[in-house]
Amino acid sequence: MKRSDRDLGMHRPITRRDVIHGAGVAAMGLPLALNACRTAPVERYYPPALTGLRGSHQGSFEVAHELARAGKDFGDGRDLGEDYDLIVVGGGISGLAAAYYYRQIRGPESRILILENHDDFGGHATRNEFHQGGLMRLAWGGVFNLEFPLFSDTVNALLADLGVDIQRLQEQGDFNYGEDGRLGPATYFDAETYGRDVLIPGLALRHGDPEQAFERLDHVPLSAESRESLKRFYSARTDVLAGQSPEDRGRYLRGISYTDFLVQHGGLTDEAAEIFVKATHGYAGVGADSLSAAECEGAGLPLAHLLGGELEAAPGSVGGEIAMFPDGNASIARLLVRELVPGIAPGDSMDDIVTAEFDYSRLDRAGSTVRLRLNSTAVGVEERGEAVQVAYVRERETLSVRARQAVLACYHSIVPFLCPQLPEPQRQALRYQVKRPLLVTNVLLRNSDAADELGVSGAYCPGRLHGATWMVKGFDSGSYRHEWEDPGAVVMQFWGSVDPQMRGVDARTQHRASRARLLAMNFEDFEREVRVVLDGMLGSAGFSAADDILAMTVNRWPHGYAYDYLDLWDPEWPPGEAPHEIARQRFGRIAFANADAGANAYTHVAIDEAWRAVSELMD
Ligand SMILES: Cc1cc2nc3c(=O)[nH]c(=O)nc-3n(C[C@H](O)[C@H](O)[C@H](O)COP(=O)(O)OP(=O)(O)OC[C@H]3O[C@@H](n4cnc5c(N)ncnc54)[C@H](O)[C@@H]3O)c2cc1C
Repeated sequence: MKRSDRDLGMHRPITRRDVIHGAGVAAMGLPLALNACRTAPVERYYPPALTGLRGSHQGSFEVAHELARAGKDFGDGRDLGEDYDLIVVGGGISGLAAAYYYRQIRGPESRILILENHDDFGGHATRNEFHQGGLMRLAWGGVFNLEFPLFSDTVNALLADLGVDIQRLQEQGDFNYGEDGRLGPATYFDAETYGRDVLIPGLALRHGDPEQAFERLDHVPLSAESRESLKRFYSARTDVLAGQSPEDRGRYLRGISYTDFLVQHGGLTDEAAEIFVKATHGYAGVGADSLSAAECEGAGLPLAHLLGGELEAAPGSVGGEIAMFPDGNASIARLLVRELVPGIAPGDSMDDIVTAEFDYSRLDRAGSTVRLRLNSTAVGVEERGEAVQVAYVRERETLSVRARQAVLACYHSIVPFLCPQLPEPQRQALRYQVKRPLLVTNVLLRNSDAADELGVSGAYCPGRLHGATWMVKGFDSGSYRHEWEDPGAVVMQFWGSVDPQMRGVDARTQHRASRARLLAMNFEDFEREVRVVLDGMLGSAGFSAADDILAMTVNRWPHGYAYDYLDLWDPEWPPGEAPHEIARQRFGRIAFANADAGANAYTHVAIDEAWRAVSELMD
C-alpha cells in the first residue's frame, strides 16, 4: 500500500531552499502569457522568495530556546550606543502597529527600533512567492483573512489610514478554501488510514450539506454500520436537549466534547465520529475531541439539526466572511512597513502593495527615524533608571541598545525570561499562554489539470497530517491576478497541525507535545507527506507527484495562534483576573502587546492590543 520514495519522486530536484532563476518556460510547461507576471529581483536579500522550511526557520528560534529552555544568561553584550524613544520587540502586525501608533501620537520624528528574530518582518503574516519561468505565484505563509465583522473602531481606523477598502477586497476575490471546484467541496480518504484512496467530490463532512452529503455517503470507506450512522446523523431533525432551559443547554454544550456529543446524541459510531476530529486541527491545533460541542458548532461543524435548528452549509470550510489579499495579511504588514520606512517600496495604495518591490536593505539604515532590525532576538529587557535597556543577539553576538520606553509585542511565553524584573504573578500569568502550533505548506504544482478533471479545488483530509488542502487561486488585486480559468502553475496549500498523539489531556499540554513533534520533523517529512496525499487524491486523473511538483515551502509555526480559553480546559475567571489581563499590565516603561495580550488569535486583536499598549505608555 505504501508508495516508495522513488515512486513519490523524493529524489527529484524541486525548489526547496532557493529560487529558480530564469527557468525555461517550455521546460516548466508554462504558457508565456499568464496574468500574474512579474519577475522578482531575487538575487538580493529577499526572504519572501525563499522556499524550503520557512515560518520558524533555522536560525530564528535557537537563541530564544537557549534563553527559555537552557536558562542561558546572555548579559548586556556590546553597547551599540544607540538611543531610541521606543524599542519594539517583535516585528509582527502588533509590533508594527505599535510603532505606527507611537509615531502617530508622538510625531514622525520619534526614533523607533523594531527587533525581530525572523529573517522577514510580519510575524505570522508572511508571504511565499514562487517564481517560475518569469511568473510569480503568491500564497500566504500564515495569516490569510481579515475578520472584518469583528473589527473595532480602532482597527477600522488603522486600515482606513492604510487605504484598505474591505468591500473592494471582498469583490476582488473568489477564493473559497477548496470549494471552488466544479463539484464543490470534497473529502479525501487516504489509503494508509482507510485502506484505499477515495476522493468524494461534493462531500463536505466538515460543515455538512445534507443534500449533497447523503447520496455520497455510500462511498465513504468505513464499515457499513458507520456509514449508516452517518446517514442517520445527517437526516436527523430533532432537539436532543428539548425541555432544558437555555442556561442548562449552554452549560451542557460547553461541557461535552463535540465527538462525545456526536456519539451520545447523534447516533454516530466511534469510527464515524473520528472522521470529524481533524476538522478543527488547522486552526485550533487540537481535534474536535478536545473542543466543546458549543465551540465546534460555532466553527461551522454540523450540530444545529440535533438542537432543533437546521443543518446549513457554512459559507466556507473555514467559516466566516472572506476579505483577503493574495498574500493574506502579509499585505497589511507590508502596508505598515511602507508607512514606517520611507522609500522601502514604491506605491501608495492597496492596489499596488501586492506587487510593490521591497528593498530590504533600507529596513535598518542609520539616520532613519524607524529602523527594523531582522535576525535579532531580544534576550533581555530591563528598566534601568530613566531608560529601558534591551539586549539582543544577532549573528551570535550580544548587543545592547536603549530607549525611553519599550513595547514587547513578542510571544508572551518568552517574556518572563526576557524580563526577570516582572512580579512573579505577572510572570506566571504570561506563562499561561501556550500558542497553538500550526502548519501551512505551499506546493507549486505544474498545473491544476488533474484537479479540474476531478471537479475539485481542494479537499478535507480526515486521515492526514494536514487536515485540509486547497488551491490558491481566484484573486484580482489590481497589480496581481490569478484567476480560476488561468492555466499553468498553481499553488496547492495544505493546512494542519501535528497531531500531539494524546487524547483526553488539556489543550495546552497537547500544544506543547505537538510543538515538540513539529520541531523534530525535517523538510523531507513534510515533502513525503504532501506527495503521498497529492498522488492519492489526484493520481486517478493523471497527476504524478514525481513529475508535477515544482517547488515547496513549509511554513511551520510552533508558536501559532494565540491561545484563547477553551470550554473544556479553562476555568472562568472573574473580570480582570484572567491570565492575559494580568500578563499585559504595564510595568514602568514597558508595555505589552501581541495578540497574546488579548488571548485571541486575530490580526484585529494584535492591532487593538498594540493601541492599548502604546496608549498606556502615554500616561
Ligand atoms: C498559520 C496561521 C494562520 C493565521 N491566520 C489568521 C487569519 O486568517 N486571520 C487572522 O486575523 N489571524 C490569523 N492568525 C493569527 C495571527 O497570529 C494574527 O493575525 C497576527 O498576525 C498576530 O500578530 P502579532 O504581532 O500579535 O504576533 P506575531 O505575528 O507572532 O508576531 C510576533 C513576532 O515577535 C517575534 N518575537 C518573539 N520573540 C522575540 C524575541 N525575543 N525577539 C525578537 N522578536 C521576537 C516573533 O518571532 C514574531 O515574529 C494566523 C496565525 C497563524 C500562525
